[in-house]
Order: sequence, then structure tokens, then C-alpha cells
Amino acid sequence: MEYAQSGTPPYYTCQKCGRQDVKLWRPYNGFDPDSRLRCALCVGQQENIDVSRMRPDGTVRIDGRWEDLLGGYTPAVPLEDDKEEVVYWGRMSIPRQGLDWWQQLPNW
Ligand SMILES: [Zn+2]
Repeated sequence: MEYAQSGTPPYYTCQKCGRQDVKLWRPYNGFDPDSRLRCALCVGQQENIDVSRMRPDGTVRIDGRWEDLLGGYTPAVPLEDDKEEVVYWGRMSIPRQGLDWWQQLPNW
């Protein structure tokens, strides 16, 4: 995948409801993130977080701060290079372009 291209790769699908072309989150801790991708609505439901006022950048007000870490789920930003196995950036190492790519995706 390339951040400059529009749209999302085929694997970038909510594994619960099947939504595509939206922001997805992955478990913050978990060695099998690819099978547990979740869209904002599914994360909200699962983690009991009200996402109805989510900002366009994917953040929600939690305990007085705007957060994109929703319960145990962090933004799912794939690495740009195409390998057979999909790898996601660690939360603290997402590059600016990757975050831009993620933030411009619709929330739902
Ligand atoms: Zn979903």
C-alpha cells in the first residue's frame, strides 16, 4: 500500500462488521492484529466508549483529553512497504504521512 494512493487496501476491513474505506483500530496489545481490526463504531460498542462525537481526526474526548486510543485499541496504520504479511506501526512510531493517511479516512 502507499499512503499517497486513495482508498484502502482490501485487507483493511473491520473484522466485525465488514466496513471498508474507514479508519480502523487494532488491539494495542496483541500479536494477531490483522484478524482483530475494528472500525470506530465496533470499537465504541466493544469498549463501551461513546464515539458519536468523534472528530474528523479520529479522536474522542476521554477524561478531558482528545484521544485516538479507544480502550484497548490504537489506530491501525499499516507500513507502506508491500510484504506478504501486513505489519502495523507501533503506537509511538507512526510516521507523519501514515498518521495523515489514517486521519483523512472517514470515521464511518
Ligand atoms: Zn465495524
